[in-house]
Amino acid sequence: MDKERKLIIAGNWKMNKTVAESLDLANGLVRELKDVTEVDIAVCPPFTALSAVSEAILDSNIRLGAQNMSEHGYGAHTGETAAGMLKEFSTRYVILGHSERRQYQRESDELVAAKAKAAHETGLKPIVCVGEQLEDRESDRTEEVVGSQIRGSLAGLTAGQMEGTVVAYEPVWAIGTGKTATSAQAQEVHAFIRNLLGDIFDEDTAKRVRIQYGGSVKPDNARELMSQPDVDGALVGGASLDVRNFSEIILNSI
Ligand code: PEP
Repeated sequence: MDKERKLIIAGNWKMNKTVAESLDLANGLVRELKDVTEVDIAVCPPFTALSAVSEAILDSNIRLGAQNMSEHGYGAHTGETAAGMLKEFSTRYVILGHSERRQYQRESDELVAAKAKAAHETGLKPIVCVGEQLEDRESDRTEEVVGSQIRGSLAGLTAGQMEGTVVAYEPVWAIGTGKTATSAQAQEVHAFIRNLLGDIFDEDTAKRVRIQYGGSVKPDNARELMSQPDVDGALVGGASLDVRNFSEIILNSI
C-alpha cells in the first residue's frame, strides 16, 4: 500500500497474559513478522511482562511499548512507574490517555498532557488516545469532544515533540464491541484531527504526525481502514492477543 506516512500498528495487550503467555505471543510474532519492513510494529504488554518481552523481541523488527506511565520522575509515588524505568527495558512507546484509563482512573486531558511531556523528556514516544462516546456521536458532538481532547492532551508539546507523538483515534463505542467505525467515519475524524494539529502547531508538523485508528480492528477490516489517506496505522486491542490475528492485520495492511 502506498502511504504518505509509514504505518504504525501497535498491539495493546491490556491486563492480559502471564509472563509465559506473553513470551509465547512475542515469540510467535517475531517468527510470523520477521520479513515485514513496510510497517512499524509495536507490542504493549502489561508491566509485569515488559522485561521478558523486551528480551524476546531484542533482535527483531518489533518494538516495545508500555500501557501507561507516571507524569512524575523517580520518587515517592507508590504503585506508579516512571518513564525512566520503562526505558530500562528499551521501551520505545507508551500509550497514554486510553479511554479505559480516562473512564476508570479518571485521567484528565491535563494529566495526559503532563505524561506526554514527561515521556518526551525521557525519550519515549507517546501514543495519545482520543475518542468520543456513542452519545457524543449521536448528538453530533464528535468534533467538539475529540477537538477538546486533542487541544488538552497535547498542550505544551513543542512542534518537534508533536511530530514524534502518535495520536490514536479510538471511538469509545468501537472499543472491544465488535463495532468498527466505517472507513469513511474514521477518515473524516482523522482528517479533522490533522487539520486541527495544523492550526495548533503548523502544517508541516501536522503532515508528519501519524494518526492510528483503534476500535475492533480485525484481519478482515484492516486493509480498508488503512487505505484511507489520513489513517496511518492501528491500535489493536482484542485481536492483538493472538499471533495469527495480529500478524494478519499487519500483513493485510501492507
Ligand atoms: C483498544 O483498547 O485500544 C482497542 C482498540 O481495543 P479493541 O481492538 O479490542 O477494540
